[in-house]
Amino acid sequence: MTKIIILGSGAAPGVPSLSNGWGNCNPNNPYNRRRRTGTYYDFASAKILVDTSPDLRLQLLDNNIRYLDAVLYTHAHADHLHGIDYLREINRINKCNLDFYATAKVLKTIKNMFGYLITSPKKVKDVVSYPSLVANKIKCGKEFLVGDVKIVPLKLDGHNTFSNGYMFNDGEIVHLADFKRIPDSTLKLLQKKHINLMIMPLTLPEGSIYHVGLNEVLEYIRILQPQKVVLNHMASECDFDEINALTPDNVFPAYDNMIIEL
Ligand SMILES: [Zn+2]
Repeated sequence: MTKIIILGSGAAPGVPSLSNGWGNCNPNNPYNRRRRTGTYYDFASAKILVDTSPDLRLQLLDNNIRYLDAVLYTHAHADHLHGIDYLREINRINKCNLDFYATAKVLKTIKNMFGYLITSPKKVKDVVSYPSLVANKIKCGKEFLVGDVKIVPLKLDGHNTFSNGYMFNDGEIVHLADFKRIPDSTLKLLQKKHINLMIMPLTLPEGSIYHVGLNEVLEYIRILQPQKVVLNHMASECDFDEINALTPDNVFPAYDNMIIEL
């Protein structure tokens, strides 16, 4: 069995946000209170975190997560990256280094901004006193393994920085991060798969120049026919009940600490 926890279901500002408050969200519905994005995958052979939001400390505390085999990055925007420093705690608890994976462009930004956290496996000695994150460069379309979990980075297009998704175990799970278009190469690959669960970002119901809106999301769902879809990365314009009412029965808006079992 694979267990997935949505650590954060919100877009970059969180909900409520400083500029828009609760926006269109019903403040009485606890599902509308959203931290920034992060997803924890508990596979039989590996525990994997996708993205490290600025809310990571509370997310790991709330879900009692103290161990990770790997961290995967989708892109280098603050809401997906700036909690990276809390991974030091995972080093300290487990007294070992921790591998993270990112494509070349994302890795370059991470190294520029957070180079002090990164070491090479050969230099790892005292993980309590010294930063001990180990960088692994990955390529879209090229499979790699964490434990027995097969992972393929997926090219995405149209966000205002390079962004990629991930396919786990030949389509058991597809995790997409911020995008405006799914390029043909990725669509062709995914159309051949039987997708059990797809995690998709929504951000705004009507979309924006850098993000898909609900109509585009539903069109991609029609093309790819996943069994179950969870929508995350929602801003204060996305009320939980409203999005739920606008989506088919197999599409669920995410909420913080939502657990999905496959
Ligand atoms: Zn984002």
